[in-house]
Amino acid sequence: MNTFYVTTPIYYANSLPHLGHLYTMIVGDTIARAKRQRGVETYFLTGTDEHGINIERAAQKAGRTPQEQSDYVVSYFKKMTSEFGLDTAHGGYDIFMRTTEPFHYKGVSELWRRISKAKTPKGNDAIYKGHYEGWFCAACAEYKTEDEYQKPKNEGDPPTCLIHDTPLDRVSEESYFFRLSDYDEALLSVLETRPDFVRPDYRRNEVISFVRGGLQDLSVSRLKTSVSWGVPVPDDPAHTMYVWFDALTNYITAIGFGNEERQKVVGFEKFWPALHLVGKDILRFHAVYWPSFLLAAGIELPRAIVAHGMWLDPNGRKMSKTLGNTIELDVLQKHFSIDAIRYFCLREMVFGQDGRFGYEGLIDRANSDLASGWGNLSSRTLTMIARYCDSRIPSGLIPEDKLLLAKRTGVDTDETTVAGFIEHARDQFVQHFDNLAFSKALETAWSVVARVDKMITDAKPWDLAKDENQKQTLGVVLYRAAESLRWLSVMLYPVMPEASGAIWKQLGLDGSPAQIDPTQLKWGDLKQGAQIGDVQPVFPRMDKAKIMSEITSAPVVPAEPSAPVVHATQADAVGVTSFIEIDDFAKVDLRVGQVLSAERIPKADKLLLMKIDLGEEQPRQLLAGIAQYYEPEKLIGRKVVIVANLKPRKLRGLESQGMVVAASYGEEGRPVIATFTEDVPNGARLK
Ligand SMILES: [Zn+2]
Repeated sequence: MNTFYVTTPIYYANSLPHLGHLYTMIVGDTIARAKRQRGVETYFLTGTDEHGINIERAAQKAGRTPQEQSDYVVSYFKKMTSEFGLDTAHGGYDIFMRTTEPFHYKGVSELWRRISKAKTPKGNDAIYKGHYEGWFCAACAEYKTEDEYQKPKNEGDPPTCLIHDTPLDRVSEESYFFRLSDYDEALLSVLETRPDFVRPDYRRNEVISFVRGGLQDLSVSRLKTSVSWGVPVPDDPAHTMYVWFDALTNYITAIGFGNEERQKVVGFEKFWPALHLVGKDILRFHAVYWPSFLLAAGIELPRAIVAHGMWLDPNGRKMSKTLGNTIELDVLQKHFSIDAIRYFCLREMVFGQDGRFGYEGLIDRANSDLASGWGNLSSRTLTMIARYCDSRIPSGLIPEDKLLLAKRTGVDTDETTVAGFIEHARDQFVQHFDNLAFSKALETAWSVVARVDKMITDAKPWDLAKDENQKQTLGVVLYRAAESLRWLSVMLYPVMPEASGAIWKQLGLDGSPAQIDPTQLKWGDLKQGAQIGDVQPVFPRMDKAKIMSEITSAPVVPAEPSAPVVHATQADAVGVTSFIEIDDFAKVDLRVGQVLSAERIPKADKLLLMKIDLGEEQPRQLLAGIAQYYEPEKLIGRKVVIVANLKPRKLRGLESQGMVVAASYGEEGRPVIATFTEDVPNGARLK
């Protein structure tokens, strides 16, 4: 059956959501959207793990019951998924799974019963009653062996957890054990015969060597008198199930294993097995314990377990509250578009490896790849279709009698050249996507952006528009650009659903890119004559200095109480030195212009020669000292502010008829060109 099931871990309900949670959800959501787009019936699970002594303790500390504590944390997770467009209402997850659901209790109990009746591959009882004594970390919810804890400084003190730095509990009690030690060979056989079972490769090797090192039986219950907040062991309610046994089982109870309620709504046989997305820190639970439980119960193993890396700060350090280098969800939500965050997460982290996350990096990526890249390609193409083609999609074909004329302009008259390039890129994109190599997939999509940008720059539509005989040549260039935008909208939909939908609408297309299978795209399906929609910038440029100043100076309401950090910023230091009259300002004629062309000047490495449309008869010729900071082709189509009544002057023998307004900052006086985030006609005056 053509179905797919993808899960994030269910998050432990003892702390509020953070970037790590958001990231895995974004990855799961992207995969689910890509599958749905290809016509695969898809189920996407996320949720919370709400049992165990750690929740009991957190609840006690906060003066709540464990259920109230879970509800409190879940409310924050629900808020996050809604704000970041990941919930069902936004086309995201299909279930927010909670392990306190009664149907989950039924399903887990069924799994326990099955395993307790089962024999291991070596012929022993899979579950047995024994006595356990050991050091237990409540925060990890696991017993710690000697190499997993820090020995105490003073004799008689308990050892501390290497992860949490908190004292461990000495636990000695009657316990049920799962005979994990009998599953080593079975696990190794799976790991060796299914190379894709654990990904990436180096994680799979870690798991293999862990299993080869010998497996110890696993205590899977605690006495109710020690841990009461959890699922009772069937037929022995004096015991509470080990929280990981209960939590891992959510992946099958959510879709109907062992309970009628979910079986009717979803269907276990229909969707199992799942692709599990996990952080590398919980890989062992998913790649060793979970498959062993399933093997014991005679249930098919997951499709794959994929471990992703962690986000570090821009300097490669671990993020922590004490270092003050965490990324706050509230800040992301306030200053960044969801699509920009999704793009950054998938572009910046090579899936599997650790990645680096900083607000400045996020702004830079949003500006260079989105505003100046895909966004600019879209707005310049559509603006030219509006201006030169009466807002209708031109024909993509050059008539026979115009071929020679077109050839003379340098425009490729063979449309299969562009079509072939983008088809190949699409194939690569889909292949990378299927391999979860999102970063590579996006690089491939951006090779299309660069290629089409170059095609426009080379063809100079603004020149073609001046020659009535080149109407068809102009049309073909713009058709190819618009058709490429349609393809990009479909390809990029799973990563940036909102922006893709917006560009789709601006192209005047019906429906949504969510409904188009990228592998079925056909070059030329964009209909000639169709009216385009309102042209709006999809990715407004982000003002880095302003946003960074807001982020660093405005206290964020922190998830855990801590003093807000206030930094003095460069922007704060700017003061007004002396005043001018309004008439003084009126002497400066500031106008909106659009860059028609930009090129470097030989032997003048700082200067760009530009043609700017100010809505006048002729475009202005301008020289600007920005060549070290701006790629000329990226400027084409940009709206800029020009001092229009500046006395013309000659630089390097070329006349400059005005001046481009730019901010200047830093020691080297780095220029940042002033621009508009809203559409504004050329020639409009600034006052
Ligand atoms: Zn711990």
